[in-house]
Amino acid sequence: MVYLSLKKVLLRPKIMAIIEQLQQQLEIEINICDTENNYLLGQYDASLHLRQQLEIEGQILGWIHSKSEKSIIILDVLSLILQQEFEKKSLANEILEKYEEVNFFYDISSKISTCLKIEEVIQVIYYEVKKLINFDYISVILVNSETGELETLITGREKVIKRTVGQAKLGIASYVFNSGEAEIINDVLTDSRYSPSTTIMRSLICAPLTIQNEIIGVINISHPEVMAYTTSDLKLFVSLTYQVAAAIQTVQYYEQLKEYSQTLEQKVAERTLELENAKYELEKLATIDQLTKLANRRKFDEYLQSEWKRMKREKRPISLILCDVDYFKLYNDYYGHLLGDQCLKKVAQVLQNTIRSPADLAVRYGGEEFAIVLSNTNSDGAIRVAQRIQFAIENLKVPHQLSTVSQYVTISQGISSLFPSQNNTSEVLIKLADLGLYQAKNSGRNRYVLNSSN
Ligand code: GH3
Ligand code: MG
Ligand code: MG
Repeated sequence: MVYLSLKKVLLRPKIMAIIEQLQQQLEIEINICDTENNYLLGQYDASLHLRQQLEIEGQILGWIHSKSEKSIIILDVLSLILQQEFEKKSLANEILEKYEEVNFFYDISSKISTCLKIEEVIQVIYYEVKKLINFDYISVILVNSETGELETLITGREKVIKRTVGQAKLGIASYVFNSGEAEIINDVLTDSRYSPSTTIMRSLICAPLTIQNEIIGVINISHPEVMAYTTSDLKLFVSLTYQVAAAIQTVQYYEQLKEYSQTLEQKVAERTLELENAKYELEKLATIDQLTKLANRRKFDEYLQSEWKRMKREKRPISLILCDVDYFKLYNDYYGHLLGDQCLKKVAQVLQNTIRSPADLAVRYGGEEFAIVLSNTNSDGAIRVAQRIQFAIENLKVPHQLSTVSQYVTISQGISSLFPSQNNTSEVLIKLADLGLYQAKNSGRNRYVLNSSN
């Protein structure tokens, strides 16, 4: 509503001059007072008995007193001036309101565009709408995209929370959702569709949330007392709902995307773990001998190379033992291949238990031959290992009927020991051990022979 001040208009010099001029021309005397009896022109004079009311759009602004009917001319002129002032002010007000509205929408849209959660969107709407409409509580009910039913509720005042509700409790909101028409209900108790909920409300404005003709939910603001919401409140609220709906959809997409990328990340992580496990298993398979579970020849080659280099750098000795089961062909012939395998397993077990793993490495070198790489071990140390092995194998007491050296299974060992240097290679270490093994076999088996430079 636009209020005009008679004083402000009359005190303008030009207007006052016009009135005074008219007075002179009409040769009448007048005074003008406002509704609070302040004399804006002339003074109180009991003789000015004729009273004419200055009224614009139902607003009484004051009175003109005179003795003559001719003062009606002044009344008409003044009324015209006041009417113009009123229209000017109304227009200015309207422009201001529009400007504020544009500003308001701009403000909201820039604020909600930064929200990443529906709760945040509703929080912004709560604070912004509160600047223009008096309400207490805000709630948004959304459609479950799978069931097509209204069920997710975001509700609150300063703090907004999310929870799930059943369709049955929704009353008016459900009706607005189905009709697609926004509504003002200034007293819910007079509305048969009202279904009491945990929110104490007496008045509400409820509007559908629409995106491209599809209703995605309902938003309402409510007050615990009977209110007098107007159609302009409704208009303002409805214009806002388009922005709310768009923001909610954006946030929902964002949440879906986040969820999707999380499951994707999780899947990738699971697959990576599976692949790593598979790779590990494969590597193990590729480096382990299936019968004895000792490292295989491939692992031996790698390990000997790297230990040779390390010992060279650290200027420490490295030793190698090559062992071979004595008369194993005869063992197989007599006891059969299966028992032969069992025997190899037992020998492997002894080797594994005798060494200091993981510093030393026991390997199935091939057939019934085994190797033991002893890093940072000189010939004395290697001999001690060989003796322990010799003793442990004999102690296994695996019968060997056809052996000429013992009634049990025995082994022969060739030992080599070197300080890696520029002048030798790991092949030399192998050759020396091999030579030792040959010598052990030739000199009667069930023994060890050392070939070393230390
Ligand atoms: P020596 O004392 O001179 O070493 O005689 P040997 O009979 O042990 O040597 P030879 O090289 O003549 O025979 C090795 C035998 O080892 C031949 C082969 O049948 C057997 N052998 C090699 N690998 C396996 C295996 O995985 N399982 C079984 N059961 N036997 C194997
Ligand atoms: Mg052999
Ligand atoms: Mg043999």
